[in-house]
Amino acid sequence: MGELMKAEIIAVGTELLMGQIANTNAQYISGRLPEAGIGVYYHSVVGDNPLRLIECLDLAIKRSDIIILTGGLGPTKDDLTKETVAEIFGRKLVLHQESLDKIIKFFEKINKPMVESNKKQALLPEGSIVIENNNGTAPGCIIEEGGKVVIMLPGPPKEMKPMFDDTVLKYFNSKSNVKIVSKFIRIFGIGESSMEEKIIDLIDNQTNPTIAPYAKDGEVTLRVTANCGIDDDGEKIIEPTIKEIKNRLGDAVYSTENKNLEEVVGELLIKNNISISFAESCTGGLLSAKLTDIPGISSVYSGGMVTYSNEIKQHNLNVNATTLNLYGAVSSQTAKEMAVNIRKVMKTKLGLSVTGIAGPGGATENKPVGLVYVGLADEKGVDCIELRLWGDRNRIRNNTVLNALDMIRRYILKNCNAI
Ligand code: ATP
Ligand code: MG
Repeated sequence: MGELMKAEIIAVGTELLMGQIANTNAQYISGRLPEAGIGVYYHSVVGDNPLRLIECLDLAIKRSDIIILTGGLGPTKDDLTKETVAEIFGRKLVLHQESLDKIIKFFEKINKPMVESNKKQALLPEGSIVIENNNGTAPGCIIEEGGKVVIMLPGPPKEMKPMFDDTVLKYFNSKSNVKIVSKFIRIFGIGESSMEEKIIDLIDNQTNPTIAPYAKDGEVTLRVTANCGIDDDGEKIIEPTIKEIKNRLGDAVYSTENKNLEEVVGELLIKNNISISFAESCTGGLLSAKLTDIPGISSVYSGGMVTYSNEIKQHNLNVNATTLNLYGAVSSQTAKEMAVNIRKVMKTKLGLSVTGIAGPGGATENKPVGLVYVGLADEKGVDCIELRLWGDRNRIRNNTVLNALDMIRRYILKNCNAI
């Protein structure tokens, strides 16, 4: 297997076709197969219907080397993946005693009676390699035939993922002599086109590693991917390119480890032992929610206030009535007072404030939807940035959070030692 093997993922389940659940299994498997030197060429979704599943499998066998199915391994009547695959390959379903023993034990452990149909899950196509399921009852299996590989995994992601990681990836690694290694560079504070301008020669001349940019909701990510032998150190091939990109883009690069902005900011705050509090208006607590996603943040994050109305800004956060009347709630003056005051109220090293117009209503002639001020106060003074964001309410609020986090990140990079 010298070159990239071609894989297809078939998700089985009517609820996927009905839009009740998203096909996250295909997303997960696709994200990981390149590590084993496998390219994913097709995703298919088919309902719990044997005829259509046969059609799907016939096509997949023609065009792909590897077919990975998820779903339909359960005990009920509509679970028919194994039966259908066995039929196509002309194999019988035979009892796998070890799996049956495990299923019996599983039900003993959860103290529930085992019904007859659960035994069906221990039936596997003759001659297949069994994939153990330590988080549920349905084992998976691998069939090798005529140069093709067919793999069946259960639908529930908490069962499927460990089986894929522990067994399927290892199986492929032992077969392949190439792999693909990717690293992700996360960038904020520079638009996609100006970023591209700065590294266009690198993109144009790429061979190995390759560089692929993509933009999402105000953030830009660069994927740097190396093709290499299964035993090669892929990271070593990637490293010089990462270094060069970092040199060109400077502190717009906030992570080369594919971390989120809140993770990076949380870690910076914790490492530097900087306490912080938030006064949020248009984000309504979103910023606090994002930062408290980070485990261990309680050592530096003490709390915040959602000061949505002018009255609360004035009475609970001591913003001057004159400031509010003269400049309005959405102004740099108000943002600065909010930041200075929350810092005092919460007794933290930093105080950060957010006030803006998330829309769709609320705009005036001078203050359009998307106008947002973010204030940041420390013991020496207060800074404020003005943002002009676009998009719907959701996008504006989320982008405000990202900009606020980035303001904290840049403050720490400029003023603190431990990074
Ligand atoms: P079970 O033993 O639970 O019946 P199963 O292997 O038969 O497992 P399904 O019945 O197809 O799998 O799906 C069970 C559950 O797994 C679904 O209700 C859904 O929550 C989840 N699931 C199934 N397929 C997918 C998928 N492609 N992506 C994400 N989740 C999925
Ligand atoms: Mg099922």
